[in-house]
This record gives sequence, C-alpha cells and structure tokens, in this order.
Amino acid sequence: MSINRNIRPSVNLHGPESTPAVSADSSRDAQIQGEELWTLSDLAAENLSRATRLLFEAPNNLPSNAGEHKGHCSTSASREGSNIVITLTDPGLLDCPICCEPLTVPVFQCDQNGHLACSLCCTKINNKCPFCSCPIGSNRCRAIEKIVESSTTRCKNIKYGCNIPVTYNTKNEHEKTCVCSPCSCPYLGCKFVSSAKELYQHFSNDHLDSAIGFLYDNFDLDYSFPITLTKNDSFLVVREMVSGTLFILHNRIVVLGNVVTVSCVQPSFMEDFNYDLLVSNKESSLKFQSLTKSTPSLQVNGSPSRSVLLIPCEFFDSCGQVKIDVSIRRIW
Ligand SMILES: [Zn+2]
Ligand SMILES: [Zn+2]
Ligand SMILES: [Zn+2]
Ligand SMILES: [Zn+2]
Repeated sequence: MSINRNIRPSVNLHGPESTPAVSADSSRDAQIQGEELWTLSDLAAENLSRATRLLFEAPNNLPSNAGEHKGHCSTSASREGSNIVITLTDPGLLDCPICCEPLTVPVFQCDQNGHLACSLCCTKINNKCPFCSCPIGSNRCRAIEKIVESSTTRCKNIKYGCNIPVTYNTKNEHEKTCVCSPCSCPYLGCKFVSSAKELYQHFSNDHLDSAIGFLYDNFDLDYSFPITLTKNDSFLVVREMVSGTLFILHNRIVVLGNVVTVSCVQPSFMEDFNYDLLVSNKESSLKFQSLTKSTPSLQVNGSPSRSVLLIPCEFFDSCGQVKIDVSIRRIW
C-alpha cells in the first residue's frame, strides 16, 4: 500500500455569519449523488478548523485510501442553528484505512507519520504501521476522535423514509437493523422497492386482487384459510388484511411431490411468524408447523431455508391441485 501525498483536499470553513455553503435541499442532492452530509453537534468552528487542518492539511495524516480518490476529496461547511453541517465528498476519509470500517474511538496514529488505524487493526498488525513500519497503538488521534464522536449523518435508507440521525460510529449498526431497509414488491414484473411499511401500502393500492387475504390466527379463534395450490405454481402471495403484511407460499416440484414453505416479505432481521399447513386427501392428512423466514425480496434467499413441507404426489387431484389450510400467527 502506498500513499499519494500530492493530494491536498480543500477545506472550506464558514464562520457563523457566512452565507451557508450548503442549503438543506442541495445537501440532500449531494447525498443522492453519493456524497455524505455530516452534522457536527458540539465542536466549535474553531475546533473544527483545527481538527480538519490536522486531518486534511498534514499529508502524513491522510488515510491510505485517499490516493484512490483522484483529488476529489473536499469538504464544505455551513451552520444550521448550533450545528455545523459538512459535506464530505469522500465519506471514506473517516474509515479506518486498513479494515475500511468506520473509525470508532479510540483512533490511533503511528508515532512518526500520523497514519491512522482503529484499535482492532492495531492488534492485528502487531502495533506496526503497515505504511511506514513505525510503532502504532500508543498515540491517540484526538482530532479524528472528536470528529467521529460528534458527527451525525443520515441512514442510507433515507430515500425509503428513515429520517433518524445516526452518529458516524453507529451508522453501520443502525443500518443492519433499520426498519426502513428496502423490500421488493413480489408482484411479478413490478419494480417497486421501499420500506416494508410502504411496500404493504403500495401492494394494497396496486395489486390487492392478486393476493389471498387472511387474518392472523389468535390462538382463541381458528383463522385458518384455504389455499388452492397448483403443482406448477412457483409461489402465491398471501396478505394479512389488517396490517397488510405480505407472505409468500413458495412451491417447488421435487421427485416425490412438491415442497412448500412460507416466508414473510420484510427485512431479514425482523421477527418470525408461526405458521401451520394442513393438507388432506381421502385417506390421510399431513400437518406441518414451522417458522416463516423473513426475506426482503423473492429473489433473495438469504440464510438456508427452514424446514419445508413435502406434499406427496398422491395428495394432488387429477387437475394437479391440492387444497392447503394455512394459519399464520405472531409469536411476539
Ligand atoms: Zn481497522
Ligand atoms: Zn505510519
Ligand atoms: Zn435507518
Ligand atoms: Zn408492486
């Protein structure tokens, strides 16, 4: 790894009386174009100026990946109330140059040249800077720590409705469990993608007739509902009528019959549902109980499939159809 020391990002800092360099609208546009908007909540402009000088003007302090950005690194700043709004055209500047994860406190710099590393990487590299071989792991970089701790930004799912400001070092964690994580419409040919909540609304507005409606089973009352499955169906969409929550009954032909399983269209980290499937013919019946798998799209398989119900060929009638009694209930 080498560092391009010719790159000197420009920093435009504006005092309290300055005309804001970034309006609310233009900063949102900047995000859409791949830039990141940061709000520093508790750094005075003077501290910011000092900190950013340390970060951007000392060539030895440049993260190693700065060289990959072809001179486009720049920041601009403005004040909004007591906060300072900064646009980083290179969001990677606040990532550890070794593991590329967002920097979290403590941040270390090597003894002579100021190369940065997160604490995990210091251990992994045996406290020897990979860029200049100097010792690293005893000197903290307080300027970067202050910036990281006091910066807030927007979740990547802002376009799907997430407006929660997140601090830089918790952004990744938040996004892993963001309720606005995108889900795709299961209606064939429809390209709609949004948060689960907006998707359910969209489906109700545009494709209501294509889904089988049902109500959650509530243990006291049996709300099982019948589905007629044809051997060649690849999936059927079922929709809970109160919440609009969408479920998919997946169907696949195998040697001995068909295998069937149920998933819920929602971000993969969300809670599962219990479901029962009951199939019968004149002589026998099969009852299957399992947990739904959460999947944000029909195409995403995610974790290995949960157990499936094998419906033997003899359960299908002469038209290749079988009736399945389904019930789905919350487990929380
Ligand atoms: Zn690291
Ligand atoms: Zn170094
Ligand atoms: Zn979010
Ligand atoms: Zn759709």
